[in-house]
Order: sequence, then structure tokens, then C-alpha cells
Amino acid sequence: MKELVCIVCPKGCRLHVDEENNYSVTGNSCPRGAEYGHNEIKNPTRVLTSTVRLEGGLYRRCPVKTNKAVPKRLLMDIMQALNSVSLKAPVQAGQVVLPHVCGTDADVIVTKNL
Ligand code: SF4
Repeated sequence: MKELVCIVCPKGCRLHVDEENNYSVTGNSCPRGAEYGHNEIKNPTRVLTSTVRLEGGLYRRCPVKTNKAVPKRLLMDIMQALNSVSLKAPVQAGQVVLPHVCGTDADVIVTKNL
């Protein structure tokens, strides 16, 4: 049995996930918590936010994020991939920086016009 706090909403329900019973979830106040608890134990994912180098602009770093959640185990690989990225100003919010990053179906995109 694993215990975790649901982070889907501010209520923060304390979840219990039974790995030996098909990852059944108890302690949730709504279905979203059950889904979160199930996924968090079986295949945890996160939206990654970071910055990359930017040349020719007012700022030297540009904020980026994945456009959908990616497996948590790939976060360091994606950060390494971002280390080799260097953009040239101007950049537009939504501009794709790394498509299908690290073999996922997520793109890394710019989050601010700079
Ligand atoms: S289980 Fe539902 S009510 Fe509880 S924290 Fe998660 S989303 Fe919020």
C-alpha cells in the first residue's frame, strides 16, 4: 500500500494506492483523485518547465515547457536535450523548440514572446 497526497486540487486528499489490488485507490473525494493516484504509482508524469539559451534578444534565457505531461523518468534526459538548444530572437509563444522530445508525443514549446 502506497500513500500519497493528491495534487490535482488544493484540497489535498490523502490517497492510499493498493499495488496488490490492481492499484485501487481509496481516500479520494472525487474520480480525479483516483485517476491521479493510479497514474502516479503506475506511470508518473509531469509537465516540464525550464529555460533555454536565447541569442540576439534582451534576455539570455527563454522560458519553455512541454506541451503535455511526459514520463517522470525522462525528465533528466529532456533537461539534457534542452542544454544543447540555442534559440535566436525573436521567438513566439507556442513555437516548437524540440518536437517529440526524447521519443515522447510531447513537444517542448516557447512560453513567452521575446
Ligand atoms: S481527490 Fe479530488 S477532491 Fe481530493 S485533492 Fe484530488 S482532485 Fe481534489
